[in-house]
Amino acid sequence: MTEDIINKDTGKLICSICKFDVEPLVKEGRVIWDQGNNAWPVNDGRCCDECNTQVVTPARITNMIRERQKEKGIKYKSYDDIMEENNGKF
Ligand SMILES: [Zn+2]
Repeated sequence: MTEDIINKDTGKLICSICKFDVEPLVKEGRVIWDQGNNAWPVNDGRCCDECNTQVVTPARITNMIRERQKEKGIKYKSYDDIMEENNGKF
């Protein structure tokens, strides 16, 4: 069974990342958008504005940087790799 994406109590979409309600965009007292944001590449669902800013956008930027590094043949280094190379100093 897939997990609920609509909060049965509030009728609002549930963020696929933080699991809080996605607040609809209201303009002049009318809901003009209630579908949140695309959560790709974090998952295939929808997400709230907060997760879009704090999680999804940084993940997209990281993916973009890794793609560029791959194109140029630069090996991706994790934080742990860098720490190990520098004997624990960043
Ligand atoms: Zn969220």
